[in-house]
Amino acid sequence: MSKFPIEQFRSTVTPFYYYDMALLRRTLAEVCAHAPQESVVHYALKANSNPALLRVISAAGLGADCVSGGEIALAVECGFTPKKIVYSGVGKTDREIRLALSVGIDCFNVESVAELNVIDELAAEAGVTAPVAVRVNPHIDAHTHHYITTGLSENKFGIDISQLWDVVEQVRRLSHVRLRGFHFHIGSQIVSMQPYRALCDTINKLQDELEHRGIVTDYINVGGGLGVDYEHPDEHPIPDFGSYFELFAQGINLREGQVLHFEPGRSIVCQCGTLITRVLYIKEGLNKRFAIVDAGMTDLMRPALYQAAHKIENITSQGVAFVYDVVGPICESSDSFGSAVELNEARRGDMIAIRSTGAYGESMASRYNSRELPGVMLSE
Ligand SMILES: *Cc1c(COP(=O)(O)O)cnc(C)c1O
Repeated sequence: MSKFPIEQFRSTVTPFYYYDMALLRRTLAEVCAHAPQESVVHYALKANSNPALLRVISAAGLGADCVSGGEIALAVECGFTPKKIVYSGVGKTDREIRLALSVGIDCFNVESVAELNVIDELAAEAGVTAPVAVRVNPHIDAHTHHYITTGLSENKFGIDISQLWDVVEQVRRLSHVRLRGFHFHIGSQIVSMQPYRALCDTINKLQDELEHRGIVTDYINVGGGLGVDYEHPDEHPIPDFGSYFELFAQGINLREGQVLHFEPGRSIVCQCGTLITRVLYIKEGLNKRFAIVDAGMTDLMRPALYQAAHKIENITSQGVAFVYDVVGPICESSDSFGSAVELNEARRGDMIAIRSTGAYGESMASRYNSRELPGVMLSE
C-alpha cells in the first residue's frame, strides 16, 4: 500500500502540493501536548500560508507570527485571534504598521531604533500605545546554511546586545510604545539542541541584567527554527517537540508573570507536504542521465536558493534503481532538485514525489517564466 493516493494523483494536473492533513493534525497535537503551560506558540506563516492549513493550525489554538501586512490580514481571515499575533521583520512599511495597529496585534517584534520611532509616531496618530518587544541578536551560531542563519553578529536582523540598553532607554522616552519584552530568533533548520541551550544561557544573563536595572517585562520570545529530518521523512514525520519545549521550560529562569513565546514554522508544516511532479523526458547525456520533470524552481525554490536536498522518490515505478539528475524546465542552471539521485527506473509519465516540502515550498512559489502556480491537493 502506498502512502499516497496514486490513482488520484494520476488524474490530476501536475505539479501540485499534496498535504497530509492527518499528519498536520498529529503534529499540532504533539505541539499542544508538549508546549509549556502558559506559553504561547505562534505559527510562522511564512513557512506555508495555504488557508486550508492555516484554518487547521488556528483551530488547534496556536497564535501567528507574521512578517507582512498581507500575512496579518490572512491570519485574521483564517481564524487567528489578534491577541496571539506577533509581527516580525526588519522592513515594516507605514501601511503595514497601521494595519497591525488597527487589528490590535499582541506585539511588534522591533528590529531597529528607526523602526521604533516610526511605530511610536503611527501609534500616536492612531491614538493607541503599541506593545513592542526588542529583537536581540544573541551572536549564536545555529550551524545552518549562511543564508538562513540570523543570530550571528552584524547581519540585518535584530539589535546587538551592546546597543540594547540605548534602545530600551529609547522605548522609555517614547510615549506611544510600551516595552513588552525581548525577542530572539537564531536561525532555521536547527537540528542540534546546543544552539538553543546557548540561547537559554544568553536569555538568563539578560534577565539578570534586566533585574539589576529594574526593568520588568512579561514577554520572552525565543523564535523558531526547529529543524526536521529531510533525509528520513517516513521515520521522523514529527520533530521532537518534547525535547525542544522541555529544554526551554527547564533552561530559562522565568520571572513572576513572564510568558514564553515560540515561533515555529517549518517544524509544524514541513513533513505534511509533498510536491508531486511528472517525468516529462529522460535525457541521456554524456555521463549523466537526466530526469526532466514538470516541476521547477518556481514551484519549489529551496534547492536553487540554498542547495537544499529533498528526498525524491519515483512512486509509480518498481523498476531497478538508476542514478538521475532530477531537473526542472526553467531556464536557469540552478533549476535542479538533485544530482545523482537514486530512483526506480523512470519513464515518461512516472509520478515523482519530492518529500518534506510543506515548508517554504508553496509559500515561495513564483510565476517566473509565466508559469502557473503549482496546484494543491488535500488528503481530506
Ligand atoms: C522565519 C522565522 C520564524 C520561523 O522559522 P522556522 O525555521 O520556519 O521555524 C520564526 N521567527 C522569525 C522571526 C522568523 O523570521
